[in-house]
Amino acid sequence: MERTFVMVKPEGVARGLIGEVLARFERKGLKITRLAMGRVTTEQAEEHYAHLREKPFFGELVEYITSGPVAMAVVEGPDAVRHVRNLVGATNPLEAAPGTIRGDFAVELPYNIVHASDSPESAAAEIERFFGRS
Ligand code: UDP
Ligand code: MG
Repeated sequence: MERTFVMVKPEGVARGLIGEVLARFERKGLKITRLAMGRVTTEQAEEHYAHLREKPFFGELVEYITSGPVAMAVVEGPDAVRHVRNLVGATNPLEAAPGTIRGDFAVELPYNIVHASDSPESAAAEIERFFGRS
């Protein structure tokens, strides 16, 4: 069993896509074991996107992810990290295949609806960052 962290980003929540996004993970056979609405703080955003700190769009990215309520979930199952990344699709909506969440619901960066952890190690850090130690 593996755990991953998923976030429906502000425009996904604003567009009413929380249920649509989470349903895809459930339909696949993965389990939602934690679920919360919340706001990402600037401090959390800077930590969460630390790997992009040198990019020219870093400031806008932090502004975007902190701009409104988000939905956060822990998704569990065999190879949950890779299954969820497959269901989410490529980072750039232009390259995300139809049938994936980003391929079906997004048109341009940075607005790609959903975040999903890229490794079990990132998942553990992100679950702790957004849900706290448990
Ligand atoms: N992003 C962007 N421009 C880029 C790369 C990334 O706006 O050229 C944004 C986009 O919202 C993406 C987030 O930064 O989801 C985090 O980037 P990462 O490379 O970690 O992609 P992800 O893991 O979300 O697919
Ligand atoms: Mg990433």
